[in-house]
Amino acid sequence: MLALATVVLLGVVAAVTKPRWTERRRARLRAEPFPAAWRRILRRRVPAVARLPGELQRQLKCHIQVFVVEKPFIGCQGQAITDEVRVTIAAQACLLLLGHARPDYYPRLRQILVYPDAFVVQRERPLGGGVVQEQRQAMAGESWTRGQVILSWTEVLAGAADPADGRNVVLHEFAHQVDQDTGVADGRPWRPNAALRRRWAAVMDAALARLREQPSDLIDAYGASDPAEFFAVVTEVFFERPQALAGEAPAVYRELAGLYRLHPSDW
Ligand SMILES: [Zn+2]
Repeated sequence: MLALATVVLLGVVAAVTKPRWTERRRARLRAEPFPAAWRRILRRRVPAVARLPGELQRQLKCHIQVFVVEKPFIGCQGQAITDEVRVTIAAQACLLLLGHARPDYYPRLRQILVYPDAFVVQRERPLGGGVVQEQRQAMAGESWTRGQVILSWTEVLAGAADPADGRNVVLHEFAHQVDQDTGVADGRPWRPNAALRRRWAAVMDAALARLREQPSDLIDAYGASDPAEFFAVVTEVFFERPQALAGEAPAVYRELAGLYRLHPSDW
C-alpha cells in the first residue's frame, strides 16, 4: 500500500515538474546566441525569413533553436542530415508557431524523415472480397498521425526558394501536424470554444464547396480533395500570398489569422 502510494506520488510530482522542467530547458535554448552559420543558411535558403518584421525574425530564431534540439531528423536513401537540412526545415515549420510566445512545438511529432528526392509510397487499399490493391505513388511530402513528417529535400528547397508562389511543402505537412493536434487530420484544428468551432467549420466547408465548383488560380485544386487537404493548402497560401487570400477569401483568411494568431498580410 505504501509502495503504491509512493508510485502515485512520484507520478504526480513528475506530471507537475516535467512541463516546468521542459519550459526551463526551452527558455535556455531560446536564450542562446543564434549561430552565424545558421543565419547564413536562412539568408541563402529561406528568403521568407527576411520578409518578417524584425521582432518575428528574432522569435523565429529562438523557436528554431528549440525545434532543432527536440526533433530528431532521419536521413533516408542516403540523404545526409546537416545543419542546412535541419535549419531550413525548422525555420519553415516554426513559421506556423510564430503567433505563440511559448508554443508546444508539435507535441505529437516524434521524427522528421528526409529523402533526397520524391519518394515512393506503397499503399495497400482493400477492395473487398479479400482483394487488396497496391498503389505506388511518388510523394513530395507526407504527414502521418503516428508522429512522422516525411519530406523530399528537393521539394523543401523548391518550396522555400520562392516565398510568394503559394506552394510550400513544409508549411503543408506541418499544417497537417497542427490539424492532428486534436487527434485526427480532418481539417478541424483545435479551437477554444464551440462557437469558434462552428464558425470555422461553416467558413471552411463553404470555401471548399466553392473550390470544388470553381477552380481557383490561388488555391491549388489539390485542396479540393477533402477538408484536411483544403486546410493544408490554404495554410500555404496564407503564409505565401496573404494579401491575395485576404482579397479572394476574406473569411478563410480571418479564420487562419485567428488560428495562427498572425497577420501575414501586414508583413
Ligand atoms: Zn496534404
